[in-house]
Amino acid sequence: MAREHVDVLIIGAGLTGVGAACHLREDAPDKTFLILEARGALGGTWDLFRYPGIRSDSDMFTLGYDFRPWTGAQSIVDGSSIREYIHDAAREYDVERHIRFQHKVIRAEWSSESAQWTVFAQRSDTGETAEFTCGFLFCNTGYYNYDEGYTPKFEGVERFGGTVVHPQHWPRDLDYAGKRVVVIGSGATAVTLVPALAGQAAHVTMLQRSPSYVLALPGADALAGRLYDLLPVKVAAPVVRWQHALLTTLLYQFSRRRPGLVKKILRDRVRRQLPPGYDVDTHFAPDYEPWDQRLCIARDADLFRAIRAGTASVVTDRIATFTERGIRLESGQELEADVVVTATGLNLLPVGGTTLVVDSEPVEVGKTVAYKGMMLSGVPNFATTIGYTNASWTLKADLVAHYVIRLLGHMDSRGYRVCTPVPPPGPLPGTPFIDLKSGYVRRSIDNLPRQGDSAPWRLHQNYPRDVLLLRRGAIEDEGITFTRATKNVTA
Ligand SMILES: Cc1cc2nc3c(=O)[nH]c(=O)nc-3n(C[C@H](O)[C@H](O)[C@H](O)COP(=O)(O)OP(=O)(O)OC[C@H]3O[C@@H](n4cnc5c(N)ncnc54)[C@H](O)[C@@H]3O)c2cc1C
Repeated sequence: MAREHVDVLIIGAGLTGVGAACHLREDAPDKTFLILEARGALGGTWDLFRYPGIRSDSDMFTLGYDFRPWTGAQSIVDGSSIREYIHDAAREYDVERHIRFQHKVIRAEWSSESAQWTVFAQRSDTGETAEFTCGFLFCNTGYYNYDEGYTPKFEGVERFGGTVVHPQHWPRDLDYAGKRVVVIGSGATAVTLVPALAGQAAHVTMLQRSPSYVLALPGADALAGRLYDLLPVKVAAPVVRWQHALLTTLLYQFSRRRPGLVKKILRDRVRRQLPPGYDVDTHFAPDYEPWDQRLCIARDADLFRAIRAGTASVVTDRIATFTERGIRLESGQELEADVVVTATGLNLLPVGGTTLVVDSEPVEVGKTVAYKGMMLSGVPNFATTIGYTNASWTLKADLVAHYVIRLLGHMDSRGYRVCTPVPPPGPLPGTPFIDLKSGYVRRSIDNLPRQGDSAPWRLHQNYPRDVLLLRRGAIEDEGITFTRATKNVTA
């Protein structure tokens, strides 16, 4: 079978994969590349998720690419606007013709002898397996399983007479107007969905086992709007982006250093949004520290407005069992429902479920150590993008793409063909790559790469620091080896 060969093979045509391709076209136009995408459309998350109200939590000034500034007046925007933004970028940088849709990568084999990857993709249109070869494999598959969201086992769910839906697979024709809806969950998805459904449903109940931190933020950024009015985009865009990046970094750092104070500020802000006497402590005061899990955002305080209006309410309790008519809680209360939405999360899936094989040895991703937060120890000519968990994903994704291009340029200029990260000295570190205490991270902890205690194996989740490390830092250090042919030349 004829194999197409490219310099860089990107897996995934979501926000990151499309961005990586645009970066390549801009900064390494001589490199050939392809994107293999499992689905029939680009956009990833922003095409897959279609539940009512789907939107970003992050501001678009930092969730947008650095090379294509977001200049809209709205800062927190709907999924369809993000999808359109990704499409526009792909069109503008002539990326679309490099995408092979319906190609799900299942296996990638590295050969040190030929210094290249052979990549196998299952075609969902023809059922065939397509093969490709490349010098560098760039995995931009996001972080979760597209086939199935996470739903815990609920007692008695089979006898429930209503409809149960997961936000990852929202039925386009679901009619919830005038219905009683229960949304199970307290994460970003539940916080987005509840006010969006509350407009039409008879009533929406957010049923949570434990509360999350919810911060009300305006959907529009007046200051950014003014800067864009006053200054040329070239000047205003970096100012606005840095302002948002620094603000998020400061909020995160302050939360980690003064958790007690931040807890109090968050709680007071919630209290001001709700009617007097509302039980804030039960429903909005988590027992974890701010940023142990991602902060949920209520755009324009929509969740609180729905609660004030009486169209939505929050119940904090545990599910005893589903019944024919709804859900019985451990407290004995019964919530009657026509529709139950299980906003219970995602299943993490490192490297898009691809089996990586290096010189006939399968790679156990959970036993690798991340190098500079993007490459894996023992895996040559490979990078994977996992965005920030405490700031916009794309701030990191842009840095990773810039770094990969610098790395490829460095290798070309020195005549290197292979780069292989090495783990830090000593036993395998215990800290996972995604250092959040959320359920979806804990469920998959064994499959995630590890991170070390110090650079270049430590993830700092700190944008300004990563700018210095990844845009300016040395390419050669103790964490990576370079090889000209198959012989090791630096350590
Ligand atoms: C509901 C929701 C809201 C979010 N909101 C925010 C937010 O506000 N801010 C933020 O920073 N982050 C947010 N995130 C995280 C979000 O995933 C990132 O913002 C961003 O979309 C990631 O882009 P990506 O391209 O890396 O991954 P994805 O968007 O997940 O795209 C990955 C692509 O890779 C493809 N793929 C996967 N495996 C394979 C394979 N084996 N072969 C071929 N193709 C494959 C997928 O089909 C998909 O098209 C949110 C996530 C969700 C689920």
